[in-house]
Parts: sequence; C-alpha cells; structure tokens
Amino acid sequence: MAHVKEFSVEEKLTSLVTLQKIESKLDEIQVLKGELPMEVSDLEDEITGLHARQTRVEEEINGINEFINQKKELIKEAEALVKKYEKQSTNVKNSREFEAINKEIEMQQLEMKLAEKHIRDANEEIAEKVVVLDKAKKHIAAKEGVLATKKAELEKIIAANEKEEKHFNKLAAEARQHVDVRLLASYDKIRKSYRNGLAVVPVERDACGGCFNAIPPQKQSEIKQHKKVMICENCGRILVDEELHNAVHIK
Ligand SMILES: [Zn+2]
Repeated sequence: MAHVKEFSVEEKLTSLVTLQKIESKLDEIQVLKGELPMEVSDLEDEITGLHARQTRVEEEINGINEFINQKKELIKEAEALVKKYEKQSTNVKNSREFEAINKEIEMQQLEMKLAEKHIRDANEEIAEKVVVLDKAKKHIAAKEGVLATKKAELEKIIAANEKEEKHFNKLAAEARQHVDVRLLASYDKIRKSYRNGLAVVPVERDACGGCFNAIPPQKQSEIKQHKKVMICENCGRILVDEELHNAVHIK
C-alpha cells in the first residue's frame, strides 16, 4: 500500500539540493565530452577539405600531363611529315615545288619548336604543383595525426565517464523520487532556462549564488528558518542557506 508522507520544508530543500548536485555532476560530464566531439568533427571537416584540395591539384597535374602528351603526339606527327616532305624533295620537278616543300618543312619545324616550348612550360607548371601537392600531403598527415590523438582522447573520456554517468543517472532518478512533485516541476523549469543548469543555489556572501544579486538580511534569516521555499527575486532560482547546501554530499 502506498503511503503519503508529508515532508518538511527542510527535507524538501535537502532533496532538491541533492538532485541539483547530482545533475550538476552530469552537466560537468557533458561539458567534458561536449568540446572534444566538436573539435573532432571540425578536424574531420578540415581534413575532408584538404583532401578535396589535394585531389584538385592532382587532377590539374593529370590535365597538364595530358596536354604534354598531346604536344608530344603533335611533335611525332610533325616529324613524320618532315620525313615525308624530305623524301618528296628528293624528286621534285622544279624549284617552285622544291620551295613549297621547304616551306612545309619549315612550318612543321616551327610547330615542333612551339610544342617543345609548351612542354617545357607545362613541366615547369607541374613542378610547381608538385611542391604544392607535397605541402598539402604533409599538412593532411599532420592534421590526421592530431585527429587520431583527439579521437583517442575522446574515446578515453567517454569510456571513463560512462561508469560515472550511469552512476549519477541512477542517483538522479532516485533523487527525483524524493523531491516534492510541484517543486520538481519548477526546478526543471528553472534549470532549463539557465545555461549552467543551476535551479537551486546557496546564499553566498549575502548574495544569490546564481545571479549574485544581494539578498537582504531579513530574507536571509527567513531562508535559514526553512519555513517555506524562497525564490531569488532577481533570477527566480530557489535559494537555500549555505549550511543546508554544504551538508549535502554526493558520492
Ligand atoms: Zn538570483
């Protein structure tokens, strides 16, 4: 049979502080994990970009090599033509024909020279691109090294915190059952609205431990009396006295 127990304000607050401290531990674990996954995915994105750049340079080099091969083909064709014309020139009928053939030979020789110059320029271009490519490859290797380290670090943190996380999740579930339902609802609401996840805070140095707004002495003594749940007028967080707050320990 279910039994309903009426909790005192002090008990309610203690349960709430307990829950807050457990969930703050869980928040800390999230923060620890929260940065490395981002760093890892940033690095992965960067490496993908670097690989794309490397591929682009390689494709450019391939394109230039193709250009060189075309020019080499052109030279071969010109050489064949020159040979053909030279053969023809041995049995020409007149000087006009001879001159025409000579002109053709000169034309082909010019073509060859031009092609050779194109090949030299292209080779220079390739040499420059190879330097860029080598740099890019080294850059990628360095980044991949950093990535491997970060990934290992992250896996370690995940593994190391898995146990803690499970432990605190279990504790949090238990603690939730001990918190007054209405109080739990406002706790969750306040917790969600603050990035640091603090919904219950102690009064520290005469100020709210959440927003550092000064708490008047009269209110402070009311908080210490544990007669009712007190809220910070400035931030809406639930206030407890330091003594009660410090008495709660989480293991
Ligand atoms: Zn406050």
